[in-house]
Amino acid sequence: MKANYILKSNNIFDSCGDKPFSGFVAVSGNKIVGVSDDMKKADDFMDDKTEILDYGDSLIVPGFGESHCHSFYGALEIIGANVVDAVSEEDAVNMIYEKEKDRTDGWIIAFGWNNGYWKVKDLPTKKSLDEKFPDLPVAVINEELHGMWVNSKALEICGITKDTVIPPGNGMISKDSDGEPDGYLLETYAMKIVLDKAFQFTPEEERSLIDNYFRTTASYGITSMSNLQIHDILKEEIFEEMDREGRMGARMSMCATVNEDLDTILRMKEQYQGEMLKFGGVKGFADGTPMGYTGTLIEEYSDRPGYFGECYMTVESFGEKAAEFEANDIRMRIHACGDGAVRNTLDIFDYAKAKSPGHELRHTIEHIEVIHPDDIPRFGGESKVIASVQPDHMWSLIFEEHPFHQILGEERCKHTYPFKTLLDRGTVLAFGSDHPIAGLNPMNGIYRAVTRLAEDRKPEGGWSPWEKLTVAESIKAYTAGSAYQMYNETITGTLEEGKYADIAVIDRNLFEIDPEDILDAKVVMTMLNGRIIHEI
Ligand SMILES: [Zn+2]
Repeated sequence: MKANYILKSNNIFDSCGDKPFSGFVAVSGNKIVGVSDDMKKADDFMDDKTEILDYGDSLIVPGFGESHCHSFYGALEIIGANVVDAVSEEDAVNMIYEKEKDRTDGWIIAFGWNNGYWKVKDLPTKKSLDEKFPDLPVAVINEELHGMWVNSKALEICGITKDTVIPPGNGMISKDSDGEPDGYLLETYAMKIVLDKAFQFTPEEERSLIDNYFRTTASYGITSMSNLQIHDILKEEIFEEMDREGRMGARMSMCATVNEDLDTILRMKEQYQGEMLKFGGVKGFADGTPMGYTGTLIEEYSDRPGYFGECYMTVESFGEKAAEFEANDIRMRIHACGDGAVRNTLDIFDYAKAKSPGHELRHTIEHIEVIHPDDIPRFGGESKVIASVQPDHMWSLIFEEHPFHQILGEERCKHTYPFKTLLDRGTVLAFGSDHPIAGLNPMNGIYRAVTRLAEDRKPEGGWSPWEKLTVAESIKAYTAGSAYQMYNETITGTLEEGKYADIAVIDRNLFEIDPEDILDAKVVMTMLNGRIIHEI
């Protein structure tokens, strides 16, 4: 078999072994046709048309698999302002103004605010936005995608007044002392009133947003992703069209929400079975987040005696529906941040499997910010439950100020982000970023998993250092682990003969460098299906 490309390097990590080797990867058409540490064998693949790409000491790895992202939101985040680094409300407004000051029409959409990071921790209001943006509607979505900060123009366009009512339990429209909306909207129901207006794009605009998104994912070496529906936004039609036209910039596994009607879910399952676009199951929420005091905890919150958080899903409330999904071979991906939600979700999976046996589905639990040690053995093995985790969620500016110290207490903090314990137990770890909640760049996640350090490089030795992963384990979680999660392990996720040529080349050998330098690493080449889709 003659190769179109021979990729040579002193450092090839195939995600099968535990360390890189010197050798080559031969690519013919859309497939890997040879991988070896014996350069003599490269001759078998060469003819006068073969292009040899010599990457020297750069690291060749399988293309990254982003296991948890929200693609359309992500596409908007990439072009909009992100104010996650703001230190105050005013600072955030200025950052948006800097980015958008020349805009004369349309909605201004920005991301990433979190008043927990601000010097004054009050919630923001429309007043600060109104000063800089009196005429254009502005919607700033918070870091966790659970709240929104808008200006007066946005409230006006959306018809949100003091009389607008949100059904109890569905979030809220915050009001000032006169009863007028003050610009803060919490949770889906309230946010959707704005999103329905703000996210109206022409098909051309949507296509160009997604083209730009795929250019960005390619620049980070991402060749596959799980796109999860959120706030009813999935944009299935765009991806269906792009797939039909052969323009997908990455393999995509698309997940609807558990609330979608079963007929639609079954239609999607039937319709999307391709190698570039496939149905990936349904996504639900078992809780919110401990940091937002909406995470379900087994023991009370350390700083709120008698309070155990909110609980959106139990066997009682969701067991029958879960069994129905199980019976229809629909895999479930359930958000569970608190240890109580993790336990409830494992109970739900057990219940569904017992009621509809024989389906061998790979359900996932998303996030797992804290776990009870008794529940660790319930992952992996027979249960096949995957830990879909996002190491960069450990991010905090100052370790000592991480809210978990107060919320969970030091004893429970030992069981936060339990990557190594889960892995050693035989659990498949599937890494992702939850973009736009965290940045898309896999280097951030690999850095955090390897060091477990906050931005102040504390605590010394890393947070619960026994949970640190090696570089090899981290890359595997971002490649082979993600591929398993997407049911793609026979076609991608490792560099092996017969798999699709989905490959990334990193400008330095992550195995040899100071872990601090992982954050500076750049992807110099990305190949998808044997085609170079990014190169610097
Ligand atoms: Zn998410």
